[in-house]
Amino acid sequence: MEDANKCPKCGAALSEIVTTKSGKRLQRCSTGVWNRDTNTTEGCDFIKWLPYEPETLDEKCPKCGAPLLITMTRFNKKMKKCSTNSWDPKTKTASGCDFFEWIKPKVEELDEVCPKCQNHLVKMETASGKRMKKCSTSGWDKENHMATGCDYIEWLK
Ligand SMILES: [Zn+2]
Ligand SMILES: [Zn+2]
Ligand SMILES: [Zn+2]
Repeated sequence: MEDANKCPKCGAALSEIVTTKSGKRLQRCSTGVWNRDTNTTEGCDFIKWLPYEPETLDEKCPKCGAPLLITMTRFNKKMKKCSTNSWDPKTKTASGCDFFEWIKPKVEELDEVCPKCQNHLVKMETASGKRMKKCSTSGWDKENHMATGCDYIEWLK
C-alpha cells in the first residue's frame, strides 16, 4: 500500500496542497524547495499532481438547462461540460447529457510591431491561462505538426 501523504521517492512527508497560476493543484515533497532565482527544485524534486476540481458556472447547459462545469482534461485543456454528464470507468460509457464546449484561447490585436518581422503582434491567453504576445503571422500546420510563420513569442507575467 502506498501512503498518499508520503513521498514515494524519499519517504518524507508531502507538503500542503498548492494551486498554480493555471489552476492546477499539486503537492511537493516537503524536502524540496523551489528556488525562484535559478528556476530549479533543490532537494527532492517529487511532485504529485492532483486532479483538477471542476468549477460550477452560472451558465446553463443549452441542451438540458442543468448548470455547466469547467473541467480540465489530462492534456490541460479546459472545457465546459454539462454537470449531469458523468463517465463510468467500469463500463467505459458516458451517461447524462453530452453537451461540452472547448474553451478557446482569447486573442487580442495589439498596436505593437514584431521585432523580428515587423508584422503586428497579438496578445493571447492559452487554454491553461498563460498569457503571451506573439506574432500575428505565426500559425500551426496541423497536417505536418509544424509551427508556421514567424516564431516570435513573449510570455507575459
Ligand atoms: Zn521526496
Ligand atoms: Zn446538459
Ligand atoms: Zn514576427
